[in-house]
Amino acid sequence: MAVCAQCHRYEWQFQHGGAHVCPPRWQVYEEGYHAGWDEARSIYARTPDEAAEFYAQEADEGGDYDIVAGRSTPLVHVRRYGDEGGGHAWFVQGETVAHYRARLRVSRILDT
Ligand SMILES: [Zn+2]
Repeated sequence: MAVCAQCHRYEWQFQHGGAHVCPPRWQVYEEGYHAGWDEARSIYARTPDEAAEFYAQEADEGGDYDIVAGRSTPLVHVRRYGDEGGGHAWFVQGETVAHYRARLRVSRILDT
């Protein structure tokens, strides 16, 4: 398995002679943070809402996790790369996922 060098998104492998095809490319910017399409980022995603989610995830993980903490609901504008239209705007919310970890108690091993 490898991550595509162009879209950086999807792991893929050569199976049955099939080749990876990158998902569509989108222009994405956040209202109130970027000036507009001139500052838009390029993101590969299967759908426009997925592009908005990818943008928000990267922005949130690079900061204080304001989105998953519920302190921020960014409005993210998305349009197909190369289009001149206004695209659509998406409010993006997030949530944390519980993660559990078992840790072996060493003293129990030494008692046996
Ligand atoms: Zn790709």
